[in-house]
Amino acid sequence: MQVSIENLRTYFLSGATQSYDFRLNQLNRLKKVVLESEKELYQALYTDLKKTDEDAWATEIGFFLSELNDTIEHLKSWMQPNTVATNLVNQPSSSYTIQEPLGVVCIIAPWNYPFQLLFTPLIGAIAGGNCAVLKPSEFAPATAKVMGKIIDALFPNNYILYLEGEGATVLPPLLTENRFDHIFYTGSTAVGKIIYKYAAEQLVPVTLELGGKSPAVISSDANLRVAARRLASPKFSNAGQMCIAPDYVLVPTELKEEFVKELIKAIQQFYGNDAASSEHYGKIINERQWTRLASYLAEGEIIYGGKSDKASLFIEPTIMTNIHENANIMKDEIFGPILPIITYQSNEEALAVIQKNPNPLAFYVFTENKADETFWLTNVPSGGACINNATMHITNHNLPFGGRGFSGTGAYHGKSSFNTFTHTKSVLKTPTFIDPSFKYPPYKGKGWLLKRLIG
Ligand code: NAD
Repeated sequence: MQVSIENLRTYFLSGATQSYDFRLNQLNRLKKVVLESEKELYQALYTDLKKTDEDAWATEIGFFLSELNDTIEHLKSWMQPNTVATNLVNQPSSSYTIQEPLGVVCIIAPWNYPFQLLFTPLIGAIAGGNCAVLKPSEFAPATAKVMGKIIDALFPNNYILYLEGEGATVLPPLLTENRFDHIFYTGSTAVGKIIYKYAAEQLVPVTLELGGKSPAVISSDANLRVAARRLASPKFSNAGQMCIAPDYVLVPTELKEEFVKELIKAIQQFYGNDAASSEHYGKIINERQWTRLASYLAEGEIIYGGKSDKASLFIEPTIMTNIHENANIMKDEIFGPILPIITYQSNEEALAVIQKNPNPLAFYVFTENKADETFWLTNVPSGGACINNATMHITNHNLPFGGRGFSGTGAYHGKSSFNTFTHTKSVLKTPTFIDPSFKYPPYKGKGWLLKRLIG
């Protein structure tokens, strides 16, 4: 399929998307139509992922609106030039940076938070004064349909173009036969590498929001009840299909029994004794993912849960221990409701487990002492981190969100989104009323002056 972005390029070059009024107007229109589509989005998110309305609000629609409101409130100030000091050799001059729109950008999203992960970067693209191509995931088709309706009702397709289809079919020609000014990709590390290659061919800058194994460490003085609740909540929300869900937990050997007891208590409080009949518990997205997850259940000892049903794409909240050597569950990103518990005797032993999968997207430490907090934060390079919490750092739009190395490159949310979708252009402005000759060749005999001015 051949899709040209020439129309978007022409529209961008017309300058229509760049004024503050235009950007603000589009953001306000987007807000209105998303609010009007709330019920339709709830239905679609239930169909695709069995999300409750409350869950869909907190993690998708409300999350997006919180970002949108923050952007609407601050857009004017973000668009202002930022004055910086001028060095001696350039006096008298002024120096400042301006945030320049990028042009035509491409936003590619996964299926696990299909609305939020496509529409939140879109806020940044619009706020930055760009045109955009949006590519939703083909694996959340009900939500993709509603999003398409919203975009088509709001924006002409030479401004925002909504492009559905299978990623492996649609994206290669789109990214090779056009040159985007930025590619913003959220998804697996494996596909991220493919996208990065396409981008490299034409030197297109990228933001890669990838996945990976995000570990949680329980320190010997941790509050076990709080840790269990704060880990179980994101681990089993959306049936564990969350990029920053705690992937596995490292716990001191002597605390394992008590910690597991607290975890089980938390799971039962959240979903009752039978998660299959809980209206609050989600489903696995499709058979392929279900089969992958079900295969992990044989890779160790199940201490809680373990039930699964292919027909309803159900996998019970499950706690596993004594994981077999070389098990895939400790190599792959789990991305489902199965939580391995790994015991450790020393920080170094726990660190060696984490280092097998370097640069996690997120890292969680539960401790009441500063020394452990410092040890873990300085020894595990990760995209983001929480102390005595898990995943909630993503909800604060004052914190840039992104990975590092294997878990991604670049960041967004709040002002970081605006910065991601604009170029910081440095400007030096020099008056002409003074033009001293020492600035020009020949420099012989002016060395003493240059030494005073430069360095
Ligand atoms: P995915 O990589 O399979 O798909 C993401 C997008 O890439 C989709 O739009 C898809 O159509 C497209 N795609 C798939 N195969 C392609 C190919 N061969 N060529 C070109 N495009 C292709 O990811 P997914 O399964 O939808 O999502 C799960 C992954 O995303 C997990 O690894 C998760 O950790 C990660 N994720 C990361 C974040 C984050 O913010 N860092 C958020 C959510 C999910």
